[in-house]
Amino acid sequence: MRNKKDYYEVLGLSRDCNLTDIKREYRNLARKYHPDVNNGDPKAEEKFKEISEAYAVLSNEEKRRQYDQYGFSRSLFEDFDFGSVFSEFGFGDIFDRFFGAGFGSTFSTRQRSGRRERGSDIGVETKISFKESAYGVKKEIEYNADDVCEVCKGKGSTADGGIITCSECSGTGKVRTVRQTLIGNIITTSTCRDCGGTGKIIKDPCEKCRGKGYHRRKKKVKLDIPAGVHDGDSLRVSGKGNSLGKDSINGDLFVTIRVMSYPGFKRDGNDVLSNIEISFAQAALGCRLEVETLDGKEEINIKPGTQPKEKIILKSRGIVELNGYRRGDHIINIDVKIPTKLTKEEIMLLKKYADGREEAAGNGSHGVFSNIKNVFKK
Ligand SMILES: [Zn+2]
Ligand SMILES: [Zn+2]
Repeated sequence: MRNKKDYYEVLGLSRDCNLTDIKREYRNLARKYHPDVNNGDPKAEEKFKEISEAYAVLSNEEKRRQYDQYGFSRSLFEDFDFGSVFSEFGFGDIFDRFFGAGFGSTFSTRQRSGRRERGSDIGVETKISFKESAYGVKKEIEYNADDVCEVCKGKGSTADGGIITCSECSGTGKVRTVRQTLIGNIITTSTCRDCGGTGKIIKDPCEKCRGKGYHRRKKKVKLDIPAGVHDGDSLRVSGKGNSLGKDSINGDLFVTIRVMSYPGFKRDGNDVLSNIEISFAQAALGCRLEVETLDGKEEINIKPGTQPKEKIILKSRGIVELNGYRRGDHIINIDVKIPTKLTKEEIMLLKKYADGREEAAGNGSHGVFSNIKNVFKK
């Protein structure tokens, strides 16, 4: 529970005060700190909450007894009927304005009017190549967004006398209403409906934005897409979303990165995977081969006696880790291809090779499948 001041102190009362004293002091203090007589001053608002809470506890016999005995405790705020305190004094609207669902250790304050409006966020996609995702890339993208009108500079009109002061609120953007309550007259201010709080009425609206002060148009933004970015990652560009006019805060732009595939390359973490095919002679005898890497063509060495599924690892030739500098590896998987067709000469050479190693080779049939076919022919 956060630090709280003693409830009796808050109301300026001694511990032996009675209910009449409590009501009297609360009424006096409420009159002084009511937010509507303090122009929404946050300090007064805080004070008003404090005294109201103290009053709510001390005016309830059961709660007061609990408080006297145990001080601040969680149970003090269980089934706490704060609304009835306000309605008792005619502040029903204050309750709605100040407090959310729960009352107790946390007060939730609703957003006060007069805040700057914020435009909505925009989501777009941009495509980059596999290599660009590995190294990072600077890219300019185009998109559509609501922006402050360049014709009227967001004012809503360009004509002389095109904008007049709102007569309903005399240009203040607020209207005041006086209400009777138990603590006297309460003056409430609310946003003027005629002008929407701007204090101005547009008589001759700008043709470009129709008086709104903003309109949709093409925009460009330069993106610095980091190395190591993944397909589907989203970059947030603060303040590049929609505007609601010159006095608003812009929304944000979210750019989803689409990484295009590159034939033969796959990504695994920060490693790049690719395959090469070599013949069984190349595998047995070894060879040098040119392969493609992120950095271009490169000659690699296949050592004699290379086995199928063996891997060659090109260290630090993969993708740069996102927000880092280390590079993954490029892993080349080796496929050994056995020829399916041989010339007579090749067959002879291979038989000679097999004989030399005392391997029984060269008397195989065409496999199980052709044998089965033969069976069914009979
Ligand atoms: Zn305009
Ligand atoms: Zn007005």
